[in-house]
Amino acid sequence: MSSEQLRLMAVHAHPDDESSKGAATMARYIDEGVDVLVVTCTGGERGSILNPALQHREDIEANIAEIRRDEMARARAILGVRQHWLGFVDSGLPEGDPLPPLPEGCFALAPLEEATRRLVREIRDFKPHVVTTYDENGGYPHPDHIRTHEVSIAAFDAAADPDAFPDEGEPWQPLKLYYDVGFSPERFTALHEAMIAKGLESPYEERMRQWRENREKNERTWRAPKVTTRVPVADWFERRDAALLAHATQVDPDGWFFKVPLAIQREAWPTEDFELARSLVDSQIPEDDLFAGIR
Ligand SMILES: [Zn+2]
Repeated sequence: MSSEQLRLMAVHAHPDDESSKGAATMARYIDEGVDVLVVTCTGGERGSILNPALQHREDIEANIAEIRRDEMARARAILGVRQHWLGFVDSGLPEGDPLPPLPEGCFALAPLEEATRRLVREIRDFKPHVVTTYDENGGYPHPDHIRTHEVSIAAFDAAADPDAFPDEGEPWQPLKLYYDVGFSPERFTALHEAMIAKGLESPYEERMRQWRENREKNERTWRAPKVTTRVPVADWFERRDAALLAHATQVDPDGWFFKVPLAIQREAWPTEDFELARSLVDSQIPEDDLFAGIR
């Protein structure tokens, strides 16, 4: 396998998710010669405009789908990845009590079979050795993130099955499937304590409170993330931040994500973390490489 180029596919729900989850890892692998393809399930048409400088602008709200495509083009150029759209419509994050119904025609309501068929096609065309996606809770409880998990699991298995979707290309078996683990309590605690130790105000008090609330709200399905793999990516944090800022409508440049100086991040938590969910190869846990056992 060592002479063959390694390939990594990252499946995400919306444009911007690839830049906030595992982006430094993708940038590192790109620099090391790995072929990386991001598959974005939806166009992000229902994303809220989170950058205060761009809120309440009619020209932006009327053209949000196109603007998000342009933002994605900038982000993928910064990361150096290729990217394909799966072609579904953003479901939006339902808010209120009781929650409103999901909008007709959205990704979370689309037949799982159809979404799986499209992702199987992507897998058979690109032939990834490793696929990353979200855990069964979506990493955070957005219906599109949960759907992205379901589609990824179904497609990981179906892509290798010659009887499944026989018109969608030759069977291909990816060797490993990972979940992104961005929100581990260990990571937040380490960054929080490092900020306090430097006499800086920590943004994590609030994040950890939200995280606990989320856990309580979803008690039935919630489980602690199981980190199996920590990829050292401290030198790629700048690329990650630049890519995320390219999604200008979707991020507040003064928000919590950018509050921790990179020097502190490099010292307190220099990795991006993953949970190995499926593997057809042997590797020793804990790992520091998504291609462990494959190279
Ligand atoms: Zn998202």
